[in-house]
Amino acid sequence: MKKGMHPEMKLISVKCTCGAEHKFYSTKDNIKIDLCSSCHPFYLGDASSMIIDTEGRVQKFRNKYGDNY
Ligand SMILES: [Zn+2]
Repeated sequence: MKKGMHPEMKLISVKCTCGAEHKFYSTKDNIKIDLCSSCHPFYLGDASSMIIDTEGRVQKFRNKYGDNY
């Protein structure tokens, strides 16, 4: 490996447009993100109905075919 080919990983804080701050390791100093775990729809409840819907489908499948599939 040549010298300088490995950028140093460091703990940085990333600010999201929602105001939440997240820390993770990166080679870059400043990162700004538009979505994070705090404001992404997946975590806000929109998708929780999708998860419930998915579970409902699994339940329907089990009701139809039983547990021994
Ligand atoms: Zn956010």
